[in-house]
Amino acid sequence: MIKIKTREEIELMRESALIVSKTLGEVAKAIKPGVTTLQLDKIAEEFIRDHGAIPGFLGLYDFPNTLCMSPNEQVVHGIPNSDSLKEGDIISVDCGALKNGFYGDHAYTFEIGEVAEEIKKLLQITKESLYVGIREFRAGNRVGDVGFAIQKYTEKHGYGVVRELVGHGLGREMHEDPEMPNYGRRGRGKKFTEGMVVAIEPMINLGTHRIKQFSDGWTIKTEDLKPSAHFEHDVAIVNGKPELLSTFNYIYDALSIVSDEEDEFRK
Ligand code: MG
Ligand code: MG
Repeated sequence: MIKIKTREEIELMRESALIVSKTLGEVAKAIKPGVTTLQLDKIAEEFIRDHGAIPGFLGLYDFPNTLCMSPNEQVVHGIPNSDSLKEGDIISVDCGALKNGFYGDHAYTFEIGEVAEEIKKLLQITKESLYVGIREFRAGNRVGDVGFAIQKYTEKHGYGVVRELVGHGLGREMHEDPEMPNYGRRGRGKKFTEGMVVAIEPMINLGTHRIKQFSDGWTIKTEDLKPSAHFEHDVAIVNGKPELLSTFNYIYDALSIVSDEEDEFRK
């Protein structure tokens, strides 16, 4: 069942989403060759707790850490460890936080130093596909419209759209209805209405869409071991239109990136 949020609840959810956004900004400041994913995880956990929130992933379905950190061929759900990041890597950093009874949940894929042109393009197209999908999340449209738009936008570049893992409704639970696949058919699936809040999160592979689970029971990798990208925003329908609750702007501040990509989704 889809749980519709009031305006007041959406404002609380914005708070939770922004804690995640700021946490990713702190990660952005520290992410560089030589740093370990466990060090970044510690930075994130401290920052979240210092801001009166609780890490959203830690202990959820028994996940052992604050961040899901998935480098290179890992798609999502990677567990932080003491391996160092190195020049040319990419890494999806996914973060959740719980405050005032509501979850925030969003993700960004970072480049470590200079990254190969082919991989840079995968990240760029995946991030663009997130906004292409968000644009379809409006009252009257349906779940399939978002998935169709993301799939069309990414597959024309020859990329693989992960099927087994999907976006989701967000609220008092980390994963609420509806499921939000990154593939689909126009006009199919549940209808979007005012007050819905979802996490939209394309997971796009450079090669095959097929994935496999690593023996740790968590980490998802691409079957062909080619790189995978992942970007995620929290979005509400307000006045019939998609409004971003999360932002990449703290990341962009840390990395000196100038972007107006989110402007059309602000009130
Ligand atoms: Mg996430
Ligand atoms: Mg999510």
